[in-house]
Amino acid sequence: MQNIFDVAIIGGGPAGMMAAITAAEKKNNSSELSVVLLEKNDSLGKKILATGNGRCNLTNRFAEKSRYHGGDQQFISNVLSSFDQFKTMQFFEELGIVLKEEDNGRIFPRTNQAQTIIDALNHRLQEDKVNVRLNSIVKRISKNSGNFEITLNDGTVINSKKVVITAGGKSSSQFGSTGDGYYWAENLGHKTTETYPALVPLETVEDWPKELSGLRLEGRTFVTDGDKIISEKNGDILFTHFGLSAPSVMAHAGRIAPFFNHKLTIHLDIFLDLSEKDLDSTLIKIFESSGKKELKNALSGILPNNLSPVVLRLLEIRAEKKTAEISKEDRLKIVKFLKDIPLEIKQTRPFKEAQVTSGGVALDDINEKTLESKKTKGLYFAGEILDVDGDSGGFNLQWAWSSGHLAGNLQ
Ligand SMILES: Cc1cc2nc3c(=O)[nH]c(=O)nc-3n(C[C@H](O)[C@H](O)[C@H](O)COP(=O)(O)OP(=O)(O)OC[C@H]3O[C@@H](n4cnc5c(N)ncnc54)[C@H](O)[C@@H]3O)c2cc1C
Repeated sequence: MQNIFDVAIIGGGPAGMMAAITAAEKKNNSSELSVVLLEKNDSLGKKILATGNGRCNLTNRFAEKSRYHGGDQQFISNVLSSFDQFKTMQFFEELGIVLKEEDNGRIFPRTNQAQTIIDALNHRLQEDKVNVRLNSIVKRISKNSGNFEITLNDGTVINSKKVVITAGGKSSSQFGSTGDGYYWAENLGHKTTETYPALVPLETVEDWPKELSGLRLEGRTFVTDGDKIISEKNGDILFTHFGLSAPSVMAHAGRIAPFFNHKLTIHLDIFLDLSEKDLDSTLIKIFESSGKKELKNALSGILPNNLSPVVLRLLEIRAEKKTAEISKEDRLKIVKFLKDIPLEIKQTRPFKEAQVTSGGVALDDINEKTLESKKTKGLYFAGEILDVDGDSGGFNLQWAWSSGHLAGNLQ
């Protein structure tokens, strides 16, 4: 079996597959480069299958640096523009995939199947004669006398002139990424920043959300550290047995994780479209027209029926009171609460449930025009392993395609 290559790509996720295709299509003095793609799983792109609820939200029409977090914004912008969302869409269309656009610029394969993307990439890898080695767990990477030496778990040693590390971060390790790449990067002279689970649900100290498990509302959520708002989002809010979920809630995780040594509170405004004054007028109207009704029943006209008893209990207002007997003070208490329901955040859910990793290999020691290491010549990084994480909506896969393509250029 051939064990000497021009390029070894380590990790067969989206970044690795894109890097391998790009490298294999490069000409080196008019001859093709020999490329090996090493993947620990028994198939490539396992995580892609889980993306977009199995539909693969592969990019976003509005991808640009402000949708990304972590390292230097100019660095991120350079990488994105080297192979942007439009080139990405063109790339997949040229692979024969028909794409469609949904709300907020999210792009999916028209088949609604992530497998379509994996099949097309596999086909291209085959056409490009990339040597794909599945079930190949990389244990160690070192560089001796000009070449890299890659040692697999079974003792096999592979030599290559260049290496692209695309082993992902620590999120959703059930799909293969267990953070191995950080260790190799550090051994090859790189710094890594603190890593946190991002795009992941939040656990609350209070356990009343579990009584509402499954209830989905729309609104604004913001997280405070003392008086300071540190993250703010509009969108769905899903109550769960541990706290809160849904994309707009999960979006807070990566942003607030560095502050977890402080007391953090998430506030829910579930009447975003009404000011306190308007909500109060609405309640006055409801109470006037239903004077004989019990409060819990009157509120069911404006709140989901399982929410009103919980709200009234938390506010210590008797649910059986007749609406005609409600004091102004109690009414205003309800208004204030519905506009700002506070919940103390205990922690995020673990890495295993996270869609991405916040933090990773620091960008400082990487060339922003090539993604080559400034510490070890011939070493490149791409994808989630880098200290870059995107918003939900196709931005993370776009980062994988852009950075995979740039690194695979091997400049
Ligand atoms: C449930 C879920 C839904 C998501 N939905 C979306 C979405 O709709 N849109 C979007 O843009 N993003 C989405 N993401 C995020 C997106 O999947 C990631 O950003 C992307 O997969 C990162 O690509 P990557 O190639 O850098 O890493 P990964 O996809 O993690 O790939 C890394 C690969 O390296 C391999 N590997 C790791 N260690 C070794 C080793 N020691 N030896 C050999 N191989 C190794 C792994 O097995 C894996 O195949 C989602 C993520 C999850 C978990």
